[in-house]
Amino acid sequence: MKTAFEQFMAEAERVSHDLRHRQMMQTTLTKYAAVRDRARGAFRDYPAARQAAAEIKWEAINHLDQYLEELTAKLEARGTKVHWAGTGAQACEIIAGILRAAQARSVIKSKAMTSEEVHLNAALEREGLTVVESDLGEFIMQLRHEPPYHIVFPSMHLARGEIRALFEREKIETASDNPEDLTMAARRVMRKKYIEADVGITGANFAIAETGMISVTENEGNARLTAALPKTMITLLGIEKILPRLADLALFLPLLASSGTGQPMTCYNTLYGGPRQPDETDGPEEFHVVLLDNRRTELLADPEQRDALRCIRCGACLNVCPIFRNVGGHAYGTTYSGPIGSVITPHLRGLQDWKHLSNASSLCGACTETCPVKIDLAHHLLQNRRNAAAEKPSFWWRTGFRIFSRIINRPALYRLAAPIGRLAQRFHPLVKGTGLDPARAWTLTRELPKIPPETFKEYWRKRHD
Ligand code: SF4
Repeated sequence: MKTAFEQFMAEAERVSHDLRHRQMMQTTLTKYAAVRDRARGAFRDYPAARQAAAEIKWEAINHLDQYLEELTAKLEARGTKVHWAGTGAQACEIIAGILRAAQARSVIKSKAMTSEEVHLNAALEREGLTVVESDLGEFIMQLRHEPPYHIVFPSMHLARGEIRALFEREKIETASDNPEDLTMAARRVMRKKYIEADVGITGANFAIAETGMISVTENEGNARLTAALPKTMITLLGIEKILPRLADLALFLPLLASSGTGQPMTCYNTLYGGPRQPDETDGPEEFHVVLLDNRRTELLADPEQRDALRCIRCGACLNVCPIFRNVGGHAYGTTYSGPIGSVITPHLRGLQDWKHLSNASSLCGACTETCPVKIDLAHHLLQNRRNAAAEKPSFWWRTGFRIFSRIINRPALYRLAAPIGRLAQRFHPLVKGTGLDPARAWTLTRELPKIPPETFKEYWRKRHD
């Protein structure tokens, strides 16, 4: 079986040679950049808004214990059942337990990256339940039996012709491959599923400690139907989704929309405060909130990188990342891809197995520059590289740098090394690409830079003699 690193390299190589994919990403993300800039321009003072958002999230993360207690107390006061899941497996078990108690057979689900993180669909299907994704992009990816390609645009890499072919294969009738026809075709399937579903599962964009409310933003109205029609509603969210006050949404909703999709505001913004109250005419009879840790508290305990918990999952850093744009979302093999995924995945899944993601970056800093909550992603990637090397230094790196340090600290050795290196390079074309090539992977697709014919000192001496 291939390691995560080998899989990443193989998929990255395949996709980066795919010109159709490159063209598709280029077109989509260039359009995104234009609308994002327009939406950010609608803020009276965007840099000040960004600074305020970073500070509010920083405060929330630094007082996470207090805000989570406040949120829980407020939710429970209105009859919501709050569950704590330490791990992904626990989250799945808690949700499966709620479904068993409700004697549920079918589940409708709106977009929730946390559910991807804990592999909820697979866990529920093992229990014999049918789970239907109601977000159009997620629905398409579910039909393809693939995870989302992007945290905001799950099927961004597909052309409409491919979606039509997929619908035809699944016997979903569509008049054409126009976006409207494809949407109407999916809608006809989905409407039935909402009515049949026993339980609705949603994610959350924010959780408001002050009022005990769950904030969900979406563009299709599917999360509203997911929450409103079934008798039982379950919301699964990471503990870092906390915002201290209701008023904070006035900043965070437009900030998320502008960075995420380039809209001034997302179409549907809903607050859920609990199950149906005696004087209310609609809403679920039961409301469960599952708060997921899954190693977030370990990240919280890291003073250098805890600010990564400020992330509002807008996806903006993915959209500007030259690596993501070339290798696509699936190459990463993680739930969260792009720069934020490369920063947090080693914390969530283990540093040594996922350290290669820290090298999947040119360190251009575009991610840091665009992040609406000012997470210094490029710096965190460097810290992950440093931590991985310190925790388990590679024999070859260690030996190589030891030899280098000996040579560089001894002028006589250094003088000797230059002509030896030049001599060795003469043989390089003969061994290039073979097992004898010391820089095999590197030189397969690049030229090894030539060692100059003389050192700087030799050059200087010659000039001044
Ligand atoms: S790290 Fe910043 S830019 Fe990237 S998804 Fe999170 S909030 Fe958005």
